[in-house]
This record gives sequence, structure tokens and C-alpha cells, in this order.
Amino acid sequence: EARNPGQPEFLQAVTEVMESLWPFIAAHPKYAEQGLLDRLVEPERVVMFRVSWVDDHGQVQVNRGYRIQHSMAIGPYKGGIRFHPSVTLSVLKFLAFEQTFKNALTTLPMGGGKGGSDFDPKGKSPAEVMRFCQAFVMELFRHVGPDTDVPAGDIGVGGREVGYMAGMYKKLANSAASVFTGKGLSFGGSLVRPEATGYGTVYFAEEMLKTRGKSFQGMRVSVSGSGNVAQYAVEKAMALGAKVVTVSDSSGTIVDEDGFSPEKLAILMDVKNHHYGRVSDYAERTGVKFEAGKRPWHVPVDVALPCATQNELDEADARTLIANGVLCVAEGANMPSTIEAAKAFEAAGVLYAPGKASNAGGVATSGLEMSQNAMRLSWTREEVDARLLQIMQGIHAACVKHGQRADGSVSYIDGANIAGFVKVADAMLAQGVV
Ligand code: NDP
Repeated sequence: EARNPGQPEFLQAVTEVMESLWPFIAAHPKYAEQGLLDRLVEPERVVMFRVSWVDDHGQVQVNRGYRIQHSMAIGPYKGGIRFHPSVTLSVLKFLAFEQTFKNALTTLPMGGGKGGSDFDPKGKSPAEVMRFCQAFVMELFRHVGPDTDVPAGDIGVGGREVGYMAGMYKKLANSAASVFTGKGLSFGGSLVRPEATGYGTVYFAEEMLKTRGKSFQGMRVSVSGSGNVAQYAVEKAMALGAKVVTVSDSSGTIVDEDGFSPEKLAILMDVKNHHYGRVSDYAERTGVKFEAGKRPWHVPVDVALPCATQNELDEADARTLIANGVLCVAEGANMPSTIEAAKAFEAAGVLYAPGKASNAGGVATSGLEMSQNAMRLSWTREEVDARLLQIMQGIHAACVKHGQRADGSVSYIDGANIAGFVKVADAMLAQGVV
């Protein structure tokens, strides 16, 4: 704590991982050698930079940009870019740390990184968003590269923003190398990348439900958020026969007892992706109930999929979900549950998957995009989707293997942390103290 003052999210993420690792390392002392843990919690490099740009009124705006290059032990730094006013050094350090374990879990050769800015895309014109993205890349470009660091999207950064950044990178670097994933299909993107995090979260939850002889068929499901991850989690849960009764954003929650339909989801996507609107606009267009200022967790469900942001589900929310009989919680977002909430789920015997396991489908498919770019070819939708499903099943199996408790039950928290750690740690030990 003395080393990282004012970084609560980073300390939260490290604490959660270390609680899983201490007993494991006590049983496997080779992982206490070479200062391994001290090195693992220190990012290899942190870049912070000024982003200045001119808004539509001719005013100069100054934001802060970051890239956290956490670990290159198993491959180039890899992780998304987030544009949101809540972005701080602490938030991005937590995300880069988590990313390192997540990327290891995918079994693909990707290290961990994360970046972003406190820029708020809400209320900005398309031209302002483009100028900001270009200004951001004017500094970022010198720190990234196809074998160095490969960024992608995250909150506030979707296909449009990745396109602007990839375009500016090409101009500055005079190189068409793929240094971003989540690109448009016309310039090297992969089919299924936009869907991958949401689909992957549902595939993972389906594997968890299978361990109890159940499936999504007929389940009541709540989803939080209404962005990229949430939208495709809704789509896949519906496709597997579930009734999705909520989505949300920072203004409030939609509660729809009739459940989502493909038609309603198309309206939500139009509101969010084309008009950059709010879920309240969606409620107005469809006539469904909107609860201003509320989160979805008071709504009774069998499966909860938090897909918005960190610490959006606290211990009181967890207790409400448990009292209402929730069976399974799979995180589409990164660290949406507080440590206390996660512990409450595990203590109550709820199937609980931390984001680094259940939302790894996004970065896994980014890894598949990198492979396709390197081979200069594109796989079909079916091929990418099949690989995504296989990877999610593999991560589930790794969690079950490493998270097995003495009584035969599974801690997905321990499983994900230990399985990710072993891969990174073995690579670090083999490469010496660097
Ligand atoms: P989007 O920007 O598409 O959507 C984010 C959603 O979360 C919006 O509904 C947004 O509402 C809501 N949200 C964001 N910040 C807050 C906040 N502080 N309070 C309440 N609601 C908030 O982002 P993504 O869907 O891409 O990302 C969602 C989560 O999934 C993040 O945790 C991200 O790190 C994680 N993730 C994303 C991956 C990807 O491939 N995109 C991969 C793995 C994880 P509003 O519009 O009101 O801000």
C-alpha cells in the first residue's frame, strides 16, 4: 500500500489474486523464488502522457493518456483502451494486472497491458471523437507495435474509435502492421470479435450450469450495462433459451418482465450504437419499465451477468441476489463484484466466475484476429465461433482443475488465479530475472 498510494482498485485486484496464491505457493515453493511475486505486481512499464486537442468551439482541451505495459512474459502486451471520465492510473493498473492472468488463461501467446484516457465521449461530436483518437495515438504510436503491444477496445472504445486509432497509427508509422484488434472487417478485423466477450461469458456460464445438470434453457437472467459486452450477452443468452429481464447504464435499469426479444435487442443496439443514447431512450421507444438511478440486482433471477464496470455489485447486492435464489453469476465486466460480494457468492454455494475467466473470450478472439492477420487470411464466422467456444470450455476446465476444493466443490476464483499464474510464472522463471 505504501508503494501504491491512492490506488484502491489496483490494490483490490492484487489482494484478490494473492489470497488465492498464498496457499498454492506455500505448497509449491519454487514460485517463491527469483522475486517472482514482487516482479509480477510491478508493471514492466507505465506511460502517462498529455493529449491535447481542439474541440468544435475552437477551445483547447487537455486530457491525460496512459498505457500500462504490465507483462511481456508470454507474448506482446495486449489489452484494451478505455475512454471514460473515471479512468485513473489505479483503474488501468488493476485492469493491466488482471489482463495478464486472463490472457494466460486463453492459452494464446499474449502478455498483459491496458490503456486509456479520462476523455468522456458522451456528448462529443463524431468529429471531436475522431480528433481525440488521433491526438491520443500521436503519442501512443511510439510505444506499440505488432510484436510489442497490441491494444484493442474497452469502455467507450468500440469499432469506430479503433478505426480512427488504427488509421492514425498507419499514417505515423508508415506501416500497415496490425497493432490494433477489434478492427473493422474491411481492414483486417475478425468476424465474431464484436460478439466475442458477451458470447464467451454466456458460453462460460453454460459450462458452469452444466456442472449442476442445468443450462440456460428457461432461466431468468439479469444483465447489467448495455454496451458491447452486455448486448451480445443478451443475444447469446436469448439464443440458448433464457429470458433476459434487465439491462442498464449509469442512468438506471430497464426491467422487462416479458423478457428481451431479437426485435427489442435491435432497438437497444440502434439506441446505443447509432444514436449514442441512454437506456431511458430505449424505454421510451419500447414502452418497457425504466428505473432511474437503480442497478439490476434487486430483480430476482437464476443467472446474473454483470457486464458494465468495476465494483458495480457490492455485498448488499450479492446478499439480495442470493436471497432471491441466484444459481450462477458470471462476470462479463472486469471486477464488477467487490471482494466481499465475490466471497458472499462463494460462501453461499453460488456458481461464481470472476471476469478474468468468464470474459476472456474477447481477448481470445483478439488473439485469433492477430493470427488471421499474421497469416493474411480470414476465417469464417463458424470457424471463429467454434474456436471461441473451445477456448471458453478450456478455460472452464482449467478453473475446475486448479480450483478444486477438498470437498469436491470448485472455487472459480482460485482456479482462474492459479491457472493464469502458473503459466505466467513458469515463463518468468524460465527467462530469468529481467
Ligand atoms: P461499453 O462502453 O460498450 O459499455 C459500457 C457499459 O457499462 C455502458 O452501458 C455504460 O453505461 C456502463 N458503465 C460504464 N461505466 C460505468 C459506470 N462508472 N457506472 C455505471 N455504468 C457504467 O464497454 P464494454 O461493453 O466494452 O465494456 C464493459 C465491461 O466489460 C468493462 O468492464 C470492460 O473492461 C469489460 N470487458 C470488455 C471487453 C470487450 O471486448 N469490449 C473484453 C473484456 C472485458 P454508460 O453509457 O451510462 O456509461
